Amino acid sequence: MNSENIQQENCTDEESSMKPSTSKLNDNDDAEPKATKTDAEIDDCNDQTESSPVKRKCNEIGQDDEESDTEVDFETLCCSWKEQIEQAETVSGMFGSSDENNCTYLDDDLTRQPLYSCNTCEMNIDATSSDSKDGQKYLAGICYACAENCHKGHDLFELYTKRNFRCDCGNAKFANLKCKLFEKIGHNESNKYNHNFKGLYCICELPYPCDTFDDTMLQCGICEDWFHQSHLDAEPIKGYSDMICMSCVRRLNFLVFYQIDGRFNFNECDDKETLDKELEQFCDNLTDRISKSSSNDECLLDVLKSKHESSLAVKYDENGAASYECHAMYLPLDWRLRICRCSKCLKLYEDNGVEFITNPSDMFAIYFYQNQKKVSEKVEKQMPKWNRIQEIELAEGIEHFKRELGKFLKHCQENCKTISAEDVAEFKRNLYANKRQRVQYFCG
Ligand SMILES: [Zn+2]
Ligand SMILES: [Zn+2]
Ligand SMILES: [Zn+2]
Ligand SMILES: [Zn+2]
Ligand SMILES: [Zn+2]
Ligand SMILES: [Zn+2]
Repeated sequence: MNSENIQQENCTDEESSMKPSTSKLNDNDDAEPKATKTDAEIDDCNDQTESSPVKRKCNEIGQDDEESDTEVDFETLCCSWKEQIEQAETVSGMFGSSDENNCTYLDDDLTRQPLYSCNTCEMNIDATSSDSKDGQKYLAGICYACAENCHKGHDLFELYTKRNFRCDCGNAKFANLKCKLFEKIGHNESNKYNHNFKGLYCICELPYPCDTFDDTMLQCGICEDWFHQSHLDAEPIKGYSDMICMSCVRRLNFLVFYQIDGRFNFNECDDKETLDKELEQFCDNLTDRISKSSSNDECLLDVLKSKHESSLAVKYDENGAASYECHAMYLPLDWRLRICRCSKCLKLYEDNGVEFITNPSDMFAIYFYQNQKKVSEKVEKQMPKWNRIQEIELAEGIEHFKRELGKFLKHCQENCKTISAEDVAEFKRNLYANKRQRVQYFCG
């Protein structure tokens, strides 16, 4: 799953969040889910700060917060840090508590995690599958750590995040593979699989990316399949946080009553800052909100049904079962708190296998925000406290880097060069050599 065209269900984070993970996911081209590391990456950038010549020099000078009239482009300074932090946060937003060395198999608290499926490993035949006559192979999903360790170099499909899933790596579905991280037996009966595990998406059953068709893709918050925007039968509403595809709306057609009653309405908005603020406020008061939304036992759905049933265009199928006209829905952040929680409705959700729809934290937008927050808190704790001089030096360092990079690129352009790994290594050497000189000069 990759490319700029992929869009998670929360439009709110689309700008900041999807681009960096895009570059990460694009690395899949060489058949490795070469995920940028979350915490390690942050640690790295802090380590650099700790040991960098600039920092050492600062310590020698002392911590006095001296006034200086040197012009400092603080905006540049802040932007660069902000960019780095945002990138790390984005990656962590996706990866949550998954790490590259531990299979998530035993993690019972894991509600959502990024998954992969392997196109290289040989799978056993699924004897229980309805189309097993055709020798249907087992579908299997593997966690991030297993993708990195047990399936390194294999042809992997990135499935983005899915809920309530146990890693299948090396279990009875696999013909030969043994998991290097955690040996498993049998199957994971409660895992849910769809055609994404075969590398296919949407009602059109196309792979992603696809040479013949390119369109923005949106993930359904219920079935977690991905859909081309133009293959959904309703246009996105600006600022939506969750999307439900038409076949899920058809299956859960009680949702139509909430929609027709205006219960899922929200203000259209495409201002990122406003949406971010909204998400933040919503998540920070989540426990409160959930407790407030708990049920009295009068059924809201019954009320809405009696109010609207007559106005709905009801169709009957060959079995006489009623169905309403259903389209894909775009929903606000708090839609899961707006639906009825009476015992009858809870049973209805359970019967449809969607108990999670009363839980806002199950939504990708919120999962993502909460992971990001954990990381920014960690970064904040580790961020060195800069004094004025250190700030100036850091800004100078960044300016120096930009100048050198500019020179380097210009040089490549003028010589019509494709940039090779050696060129980059050379550039780095020059950069650090110059930096050392600068430091020596300053200290001397
Ligand atoms: Zn695993
Ligand atoms: Zn494999
Ligand atoms: Zn494994
Ligand atoms: Zn499609
Ligand atoms: Zn769906
Ligand atoms: Zn109810």
